[in-house]
Amino acid sequence: MSKEDPPSFTVVSPKGTRVLVFGEIEHNHNKKLQSMVRNGLVEIKHGTLAKMDIAHDDWCNLLHKKGYCNCNPDITIMPTEDYR
Ligand SMILES: [Zn+2]
Repeated sequence: MSKEDPPSFTVVSPKGTRVLVFGEIEHNHNKKLQSMVRNGLVEIKHGTLAKMDIAHDDWCNLLHKKGYCNCNPDITIMPTEDYR
């Protein structure tokens, strides 16, 4: 990884799929996504790219540029596309 790479982290699903997430783990939405993948609540297929919609609470720090997401956002995983 070079200095210009965006922050990212990897989560492993119960089926053993390694999911690379772009973003900072300090955000609540990324912690929630990490938990969803770890617990098999969402399965992202190997070799695909998934997008997610994140609905933050009105008072979330992220929306007010006060820092990391600190709410309990609703996360919707969008249909995956095959990039192989
Ligand atoms: Zn939030």
